[in-house]
Amino acid sequence: MKGFAMLEIGKVGWIEKEAPTCGPLDAICKPLAISPCTSDVHTVWAGAIGDRHNMILGHEAVAEVVEIGSLVKEFKVGDRVIVPAITPDWGSLEAQAGYSMHSGGMLAGWKFSNFKDGVFGELFHVNEADANLALLPDGVDLASATMLCDMVPTGFHGVELADVQFGDTVAVIGIGPVGLMSVAGSALRGASHIYAVGSRPNCIQIAKEYGATDIINYREGDIVEQIMEKTHGKGLDRIVIAGGDVHTINQAIQMLKPGGKIGNVNYLGEGDYIDIPRVEWGCGMSHKTIAGGLMPGGRLRMEKLASLLETKKLDTSKLITHTFNSFDKVEEALFLMKDKPKDLIKPVVIL
Ligand code: NDP
Ligand code: ZN
Repeated sequence: MKGFAMLEIGKVGWIEKEAPTCGPLDAICKPLAISPCTSDVHTVWAGAIGDRHNMILGHEAVAEVVEIGSLVKEFKVGDRVIVPAITPDWGSLEAQAGYSMHSGGMLAGWKFSNFKDGVFGELFHVNEADANLALLPDGVDLASATMLCDMVPTGFHGVELADVQFGDTVAVIGIGPVGLMSVAGSALRGASHIYAVGSRPNCIQIAKEYGATDIINYREGDIVEQIMEKTHGKGLDRIVIAGGDVHTINQAIQMLKPGGKIGNVNYLGEGDYIDIPRVEWGCGMSHKTIAGGLMPGGRLRMEKLASLLETKKLDTSKLITHTFNSFDKVEEALFLMKDKPKDLIKPVVIL
């Protein structure tokens, strides 16, 4: 079968591979819609997870089940499913401890385009189908549903990690597709002020539509100064980080109130250390928490998130700026994600 792969660090291309085989608990799926992710870009061009050879890329797909293992109970051939980016081993000790995304080792619940071929193939393999697939509700279109694989669960996880409460003042640093979902998630959780940090005009517009009350342009001055001025020196209750670099966490500490919480979902692809400013961290006694996490997957969570689209509490179609209509366009879509033209939020390829 054909797939679009990372050939080595910095190099991608089309390759031929054996079709995957189905274990008793597993499923083989055929993609119906796929989307490249900024994480694919970090993987290939920043070498963020180390070298990988001839590994099919991609971890965001809505798909049709074409083969099912003999022990799978909940799904059948022909089902249309949302496939989360993270597909843990649910029997692992890490999953039993509540951290399924780290099943088998840190970040090891992330299997697609990390430890095994991803979803940019004519077929792909899903482990533990009953726990890792989610049914696509009728009436949710394929492109919108593709945002459920990674953008919604990651953006919302940032909100969960920052523990946003009714009336909180929140900053979302980075308003690409992930951060935009953090803006939407913060609004759903009842934040009062939502300061959205970014610069692309289309992202700014959509951030306002999702509930941002203030826009902070990081290219026009230090974001700490801008936020401290807007909050009259008080700082923020909660901060979600979905963009920037290792220094962004330092900035977040500076603009957080004592007792405040930072939820980081940004993939720190470069830099060896995060530097926490001693004084702003209360000389170690500020009760300012930093939590960083890989998105949780799982059928229950994914179907709950999908129900938000079904009931129109969340509209993910606003994220999709570029739509392609054939498998061979996945290459172009990935390069869009790499080059980030000004009008891009997220591309989708419908097969
Ligand atoms: P984008 O590149 O589309 O968005 C990044 C955002 O950060 C943009 O708004 C950008 O602004 C802003 N930004 C860039 N530099 C700075 C800076 N110095 N200070 C403040 N803001 C800045 O990324 P995505 O939304 O696609 O993804 C966000 C991150 O989430 C990525 O690192 C991705 O790998 C990661 N991720 C993590 C997952 C997880 O499970 N934890 C899963 C999926 C993705 P501008 O408007 O100028 O472009
Ligand atoms: Zn991703």
